[in-house]
Amino acid sequence: MKGRFFIQTFGCQMNVHDSEYMAFLLEANGYRQTNNPKEANIILLNTCAVRQKAEEKVYSLLGRLKPLKKKRPEVIIGVTGCVAQKEGQRILERMPHVDLVLGTHQFYRIAEFIETVKRERQQVCCTEFNYQLEPPQRVIPLPRQSQVRAYVTIMQGCNNFCTYCIVPYVRGREISRKSQDVIEEVKRLLDMGIKEVILLGQNVNSYGKDRKGEISFAELLRRIDKLPGLKRLRFITSHPKDISEELIQAFGELESLCEYIHLPAQSGSDRILKLMNRKYTRSEYLRKIEALRKVRPNLAISTDLIVGFPGETEEDFKQTLSLLKEVEYDTIFAFKYSDRPPAKAVNFKGKIPEDVKKERLEELLEFQAPITQRKNQALEGKVVEVLLDTNSKRGNQLSGRTRCHRVVNVAAPKQLIGQIVQVKIEEALAHSLRGRIIN
Ligand code: SF4
Repeated sequence: MKGRFFIQTFGCQMNVHDSEYMAFLLEANGYRQTNNPKEANIILLNTCAVRQKAEEKVYSLLGRLKPLKKKRPEVIIGVTGCVAQKEGQRILERMPHVDLVLGTHQFYRIAEFIETVKRERQQVCCTEFNYQLEPPQRVIPLPRQSQVRAYVTIMQGCNNFCTYCIVPYVRGREISRKSQDVIEEVKRLLDMGIKEVILLGQNVNSYGKDRKGEISFAELLRRIDKLPGLKRLRFITSHPKDISEELIQAFGELESLCEYIHLPAQSGSDRILKLMNRKYTRSEYLRKIEALRKVRPNLAISTDLIVGFPGETEEDFKQTLSLLKEVEYDTIFAFKYSDRPPAKAVNFKGKIPEDVKKERLEELLEFQAPITQRKNQALEGKVVEVLLDTNSKRGNQLSGRTRCHRVVNVAAPKQLIGQIVQVKIEEALAHSLRGRIIN
């Protein structure tokens, strides 16, 4: 064994998946993973730059690693992911105890760069975008977090340039993987006993458009749905403008495709949607939801919302509230706008004061809470299918997810992890459900 590595992951599922991939590569190169940074020879922070706060956290954690590096100078400290891509060399200047900075198109070279740092004992920074290679440059790592559910990256990057968003700058333009490679990867995961597959990408429903002759996203779902052994299929994240007729039909027809979609609205005001460059209007968004619900009446829908976008008036904000009322989301993820240079909105006039953003965020969450509660309560007394995946935080209970992505806790022995069971819901709590296995 060459040494131990520790990876701390920030941000989205895409990063979790990238960290798993780096761990796989390091292990293939003779290193072992540890959960204790104190015993690690390599400490990696796989970072998220989507919000200012997440970036600040990375710098603060790096600062806290300084004494450790002083005490054990042989430890390699590396930063990967979106903050690495955005900040590049600046990280090495601000934090001279950092050895390695690797951008979003380079993390698959982690083992090679670790050896370079060891050999040359100098700081290394590589943040080039590489569009020539097949993304992601990977053999299949075994899923580490769960033996039940696996994430499969089908594309990376984004071409949309929403004016608040840093993703196209730090992840680069859209590149889809070959459908054949994706399908092969899913097949191998199913052979390993995986029951639920989640297709990942910044904008999954524009899958294939960058690749001549490639199949559409809906067709990819159809082909994966046919694979033997697959029980559940999901995807994140989709852009409302790219929800096609064909994809809506797939929701009506594909058995494995779960009754859940995350469809980020961001605002309920057409004026703000235009300023955000979202390329859909409120009514177009609502029409897509209506069409989806028509083919899947029990479809659970979640969304992302931003409050306090530059220029957002009280009236605009009220329209976002009214969107919540109209759609009745199952759950929402809401955030205060923050400047993310070089995204365009950084230069927009009409910045909203912090206290107003805070008030609007609180109001929005309070407005949604009873809607979520009502939707959860509607499941009380019903029997739902649950895929048990982990030990619950509470003693002898297991946790699992319904097809509509709700967390359900049940009293059950560990041996049932990985099983699909029928559960009668007895109680709806604020963020989860409690039930009893009936089969
Ligand atoms: S669609 Fe918009 S919000 Fe989503 S990653 Fe692309 S630019 Fe960012």
